Order: sequence, then structure tokens, then C-alpha cells
Amino acid sequence: MSDSEQGSWGMATRGVRSGQRRTAEGEQSEPIFTTSSFVFASAEQAAARFSGQQPGNVYSRFTNPTVAMFEQRLAALEEGERCVATSSGMAAILVTCMGLLKAGDHIVASSGIFGSTAVLFNSYLGRFAVDTSYVPLTDLEAWRAALRPSTRMLFVETPANPLAQIVDLRALSQVAHDHRAVLVVDNTVCTAALQQPLRHGADISLLSATKYIDGQGRCLGGAVVGSQALVGEQIYGFLRTAGPCLSPFNAWVLLKGLETLQLRMRAHSETALQLARWIEGQPAVERVYYAGLETHPQHQLARQQQRGFGGLLAFELRGGREAAWRFINAMRLISVTANLGDAKTTITHPATTTHGRLTPEARAAAGIRDNLVRIAVGLEDVADLQRDLQRGFAALG
Ligand SMILES: *Cc1c(COP(=O)(O)O)cnc(C)c1O
Repeated sequence: MSDSEQGSWGMATRGVRSGQRRTAEGEQSEPIFTTSSFVFASAEQAAARFSGQQPGNVYSRFTNPTVAMFEQRLAALEEGERCVATSSGMAAILVTCMGLLKAGDHIVASSGIFGSTAVLFNSYLGRFAVDTSYVPLTDLEAWRAALRPSTRMLFVETPANPLAQIVDLRALSQVAHDHRAVLVVDNTVCTAALQQPLRHGADISLLSATKYIDGQGRCLGGAVVGSQALVGEQIYGFLRTAGPCLSPFNAWVLLKGLETLQLRMRAHSETALQLARWIEGQPAVERVYYAGLETHPQHQLARQQQRGFGGLLAFELRGGREAAWRFINAMRLISVTANLGDAKTTITHPATTTHGRLTPEARAAAGIRDNLVRIAVGLEDVADLQRDLQRGFAALG
């Protein structure tokens, strides 16, 4: 098949077919190469592989065929030149920062980013004299005002978890590029199936593959996608040296996950929208946060920038923490756990779990109230999920 034909494949075909390289055995499904190193035909070939003169496998910290298949398939979906896979989502963020930043550089990030990302920026990068400032996600003026001469990176999660705020990526990439900084998007919540940040001007799209790429809560992984210069050289250079690489087995699980990603994201989104509409009509509910609702302040932007609204939704109950906990404790089907992106629907109380380590002031600034409940909608029947949530509403009396 010609490269140009592959280049014109639609999203579904890319998810199933891109990156596959069959061995001489003629296997239909992709094999797992569980080997740490590779053998060479001669000392000459070994020397050529090590020096990079000849492409090919060397050692699984930096070249493994199963990992490479996952990387190429995800690169095709994100429409980036190059992808590198990592041992977790946090490792994807770490290798991006270590590959692109140096002491004295400054990051501007959206407030309310994933808790461990904020700890990485504040407690660890801070030790190496990389400073981070936080700005409200949707306020482009605040992003611009936070820039310093040393700002090298803008880091954003859109849609944000759990309140589903959305930033205009095209406009934010302009802010970054006017300043010669890179825009890094954490695309965990949408994945390439619903949003391709590189098409909207981002320089890097990274994600936790642990969530929707796996999609069944089985293993950890991460990935970074972007240009050959940024990802293929600077970031890969750090990864292959420092070693937070993806294992071949996890790469295989995630590679197979990509084959059903489109279908699953569509199903997560459809069920989440039905539930969001139903929850919005409940008398015990003060407010629902889901970008698929016409009442969401960035509904129009979400329609332009995303191909769907995803599986995360949050709502505020009348009452405080007591009401939220009573609601959660009434669940019989839905799992009480903070993970997301699973086929099994999960429910959590952000103020005392995912955002529990923030100070009350920081939590208030991020808009996380004590009466907020978050659901990561899975793949069960909507009627069964409604019946379970109805138990929660009944428990509120
Ligand atoms: C889970 C998550 C991460 C971290 O990913 P791990 O695979 O758990 O290391 C980063 N960003 C977002 C938005 C996440 O949800």
C-alpha cells in the first residue's frame, strides 16, 4: 500500500491499521516483543546501529517494535510527525519538561491542572529553578499578562477536569507563538478521537494513555506527540537516556485500545450527554458541568474544537459535603474511585480526593465546591446508570 493512500485514511482506519508491521510469520494481530536487546548480524552492523547511521532495533529502552507500533498509530491519530511513548502520563509530562526546559525558564499553566502535574511543577521543577505561574484557563488576557521574558512553555488541560472549562487553542497558540514559547496540551480527557490539539496550533499534545487509550483500567502508559524537532529529538533524547519508557506489554494493551478508541469515545460521549440532560432536570441539582449542554458557557467553542464532548461530567448538589457523600454512598453499580477513562462508570468527590491536597483557597479559585460530584461515564446501559444515580437522589430525601 502506498504512503499516500495511508495518508488519506480516515480516523477509524488509522486507529485500526496505522503503524502495523507484520513479521515473516504473517500474524494478523500485532505481536509483543518481550526482549530487552536485539542481536546484530555483525560487529559492523552493531556499530552502525549504535551510531545511528543505520536505523533498526538496538535496546528496548529506546527501540522496541511493539512500542514503535503504538507510537506510530497514535501519531497518525493525533496527526503529528512523531510520538514517543512513556511509562505513565506523568512520565509524558516529565520528559516533555526535561526535554524542552532548562534552569531559569518559566511555565504558565492553567490553574486546576491535574494534581500531580502541579506538584511536579511546584515541588520538583521548582528545585531546578523552573518557575510556574497559574492563570484561569479561559482568560486569554491573564495568559498574556503572566508571560515573562523567560517563559518557554504554556501548559493547558482542555477540557479541564472536573468542570469542563475550555480554552480556544488557536488563540492560545497565538499567545505562545508571539512569545516564541511552546504550547503543550494535556489531551487525556478527549484523546485524539475527539480533539487533535496539533491541528489547532499546539506544539505538543500529550496524554495519560492509562485513561481512555487503555479504556479498561488495566495498565499505565503515556505518550507525547509533536514535531520531529521537538519530540523526535529533544524529548526522545531525554527519554532514551533517562529511561521512563513504556513496556512492550503495556504498549500492546494500549495499541489494541487504539483500535476501539473511536467507538468507545463516541459511546462515552453519548451516554454522558444523556445523563447530563437528565441530571440537569433533577430538583436536587444546582448546576451541571458538561460542555455538551447548551447551557455550558463554551458549548459553541467545544463544538468547533472537539468532535465530541467526552465522558466526564460533574454536578453540584443542593447542600454541602454531607449531601455529596450521601449521594456517593448510595451507589451500588457505579464504582467509588477517582480513576477515569474506564469502561466501568466511576464516581468521586473532587474536594476530598483529586483536589484534596489543595488549600481551601486554591480549591475555591479552581471552582471546586464541597457539593461537587464527578462522574466518569463508562460503557454501561444508560438506564442502569440512571437507576443507580436515582438511588443517590433518593438518599438526599
Ligand atoms: C491521570 C492523568 C495524568 C497522569 O497520568 P498517569 O498515567 O496516571 O501518570 C495526567 N493528566 C491528566 C489530565 C490525567 O487525568
